[in-house]
Amino acid sequence: MFGLIGHLTSLEHAQSVARELGYPEYADQGLEFWCSAPPQIVDRIKVTSATGQQIEGLYVESCFLPEMLAGSKIKTAIRKILNAMALAQKNDVDITALGGFSSIIFENFNLSQMSSVRNIQLEFNRFTTGNTHTAYIICRQIEEASRKFGIDLAKATVTVCGATGDIGSAVCRWLDARTNIKELLLVARNQERLQELQAQLGRGKVLDIEEALPQSDIIVWVASMAKGMAIDATTLKRPCILIDGGYPKNMSTLVHEEDVHVIDGGIVEHSLDIDWKIMKIVNMTAPARQLFACFAEAMLLEFEGWHTNFSWGRNQISIESMDKIGAVSIKHGFRPLIN
Ligand code: NDP
Repeated sequence: MFGLIGHLTSLEHAQSVARELGYPEYADQGLEFWCSAPPQIVDRIKVTSATGQQIEGLYVESCFLPEMLAGSKIKTAIRKILNAMALAQKNDVDITALGGFSSIIFENFNLSQMSSVRNIQLEFNRFTTGNTHTAYIICRQIEEASRKFGIDLAKATVTVCGATGDIGSAVCRWLDARTNIKELLLVARNQERLQELQAQLGRGKVLDIEEALPQSDIIVWVASMAKGMAIDATTLKRPCILIDGGYPKNMSTLVHEEDVHVIDGGIVEHSLDIDWKIMKIVNMTAPARQLFACFAEAMLLEFEGWHTNFSWGRNQISIESMDKIGAVSIKHGFRPLIN
C-alpha cells in the first residue's frame, strides 16, 4: 500500500475546505485550532495503471499550515510532520510521499534525528520526498511548453528561482546536461549556496529575481515560500513561459498578459480516473486525473514494488534517477500537465 502526506496551503484554504466538507464548527477556527489538530486519514484511494495493475493507498492530512512557519511555530510544524509519518507507518503503508512542505520541514529541521514518535520507531526507508519525479516532470514541462509556445531553447534564457533547492538544483543539472539553452540564471537568497551550485554546474549567472525576470524566456519557480510573491507581468518578455512548481504557489499574481503562459509546475495527469476525493480540495481542474508529481512518485514506487526512499536527502537527484522514474511514469500512464 502507498501513502500520501499532504497539507492545505493557508488558514483561509483550511477554513473553506472545512466548510465545504460539512464541518462548519472547524471553519470558524483560527490557527491555534489547527496547531492542536492531530493528523487524520481522510481518503482511501484506488489507482489503476495504464498496464491494468491496481494499487491502493491512504491520504494523511497532517493539519500543518504554512502560517505555522511564518509565525515561528516551528515545534508545532515538526510535531505535525512526525505525527503524520507515524500514522502512515502505523497503518502499514509501505511507501509514503512527503508532499509540499512536509519534506522541506523534515530536511530543514533535521527530523532524521527524531525517529521515535511515542511507541513508533520511524523507518525512513518507507518514505520518499517525491522530488525526483517532480523534477523530471518540470523538465518535461519545459521541453513541451517551449515547443508549444514557439520558444527555441537554443536561443532561450531560463531562470530557476529556488535554484539551490532539491528540485531546483536537479532542474539546473538537467537543463545543463540535456538541453542546449543559451543562458541559465540562478536565483535564491543564500549567496554561498548559489556560488557552490554555479561551480558544480560550471555555468549559470547569479542574479536577483528583479533583474532575472525581464531577461527570461522561461521562468521555473521552485522556491519554498510559505506565501507567494507578486510579480509585475508587464515587464516580462513576449513570449514568456512561467512554470510555477511551488506549493503554495510561488506567484501570488494572476497573469493575464498576452503571450505570457503560466503552467502549473510539477503536476501530472493520469490516463485513467483515480478513485479518490482529495484532489478536489486542492483545486485541480480535473481532480479525478490531476495530481502532484511527488504523490505520483509514491504510486509509481508501489506499482513497481520499489519500497524504498527513492528520493531522499538534499541535492542528490541525478539525471539517471530522473530517467528511471520517468520511464515508469510513462509506463503507468502519467504525463506532464501543459495547461
Ligand atoms: P528546498 O527547500 O530544497 O529548496 C527551496 C529553494 O528555494 C532554495 O533554493 C531556497 O534558497 C529558495 N528560496 C526559498 N525562499 C526563497 C525566496 N524568498 N526567494 C528566492 N528563493 C527562495 O525545496 P524543494 O526543492 O523541496 O521544494 C521547492 C518547492 O516545490 C516548494 O514550494 C514545494 O512545496 C514544492 N513542491 C512541489 C511538488 C509537486 O509535486 N508539485 C513536490 C514537492 C515540492 P534560499 O533559502 O537560499 O533562498
